[in-house]
Amino acid sequence: MVYRKGFDLINTYPTEFSEEIVSVRYSGHTENFSFPFPEKKVEHIIINLCPTEPWALPHWAILKDNTTNFLHRLEKVRSEYFPDSQFRIVVDCGEDDLINDLIRYGKEKEWLHTYSMEPAYPYDAPVLVLKNVLGLEISFDEDPIKHGILLLDPQSVTGIYEHYILKKENEVRLIPISGTGLHENRILKVRPGTPVETVLKKYIKTDIKYRVFFDGLLNGIEVEDLTQAIDWPVKNIVVMEEKDYKIPFPYIKTNELHFTTSLRGELRHCVYCNYCDDICPVNLEPALYWHCHSRGEKQKARIYALDKCIECGLCSYICPSKLELLQVIKECKSVN
Ligand code: SF4
Ligand code: SF4
Repeated sequence: MVYRKGFDLINTYPTEFSEEIVSVRYSGHTENFSFPFPEKKVEHIIINLCPTEPWALPHWAILKDNTTNFLHRLEKVRSEYFPDSQFRIVVDCGEDDLINDLIRYGKEKEWLHTYSMEPAYPYDAPVLVLKNVLGLEISFDEDPIKHGILLLDPQSVTGIYEHYILKKENEVRLIPISGTGLHENRILKVRPGTPVETVLKKYIKTDIKYRVFFDGLLNGIEVEDLTQAIDWPVKNIVVMEEKDYKIPFPYIKTNELHFTTSLRGELRHCVYCNYCDDICPVNLEPALYWHCHSRGEKQKARIYALDKCIECGLCSYICPSKLELLQVIKECKSVN
């Protein structure tokens, strides 16, 4: 299997969501939508409709089979708040109908541009999107607004339109939930402020041990306390059944990749397989950071272009020794 230049997660772990989108009831305190409009002039607005992770919100849930309606909303948001900005929409290169809809709508609009890309993870990461769309190189911790660029989540387009233009309150966010710890994958309408346990309770399998993550398995955050509220920035929830089993020689079974919470045995040494080098989308050599870290030379990791790492987590994912490369990278970065 060749891993160079990112990874086709969507086809490797196909995830189907029911088309029925259901609302989660919650009578406690919830948070209204708010958007931090930048003070700096925005020249380019990039909207990504090409998710590259199987647990991400599919674009059909946002567009609801009516791309024109979404674009009308976008146009209203532009004329009200960003009248001088160029809008650049990124879509999956295999979505011919969507591409044609966007091109048709944008014919008379000099401000609307369509870009297509392969949905390979992590090509929707801000650093890579900016490079592909505008040819601009920024570092991982640089805010694109410094360059007059705003990356706008498609749900924020709807949020700005409904909250600021239509003056609606009690808006909902679409949260996809998926994973082996659930009976079914769903897209839910959630009012931010709702606790995670309220959102998941109907869907989690009974009598299993499980772990819950916000924003994906590769570089998301584990939710330790399920009474925690879901905030507006949360993009998705993944629930994984906790399994602990050993697979002998997993590094020769690359055709049997499964997401599990298992280490597949105890922690192991680096076996110098170079899988992490091959998969890194920004051409780094993650094993070097591991070796610096394990020798107690975190600072030395910077010699190997550590600041170019976009923290996608692919190196940790692919490592047959299950070394926590992303965690080590973050620790090395935190040393001044
Ligand atoms: S080194 Fe950084 S950018 Fe490269 S695969 Fe690992 S986390 Fe991703
Ligand atoms: S860190 Fe992991 S993936 Fe990278 S060379 Fe070592 S064993 Fe292989």
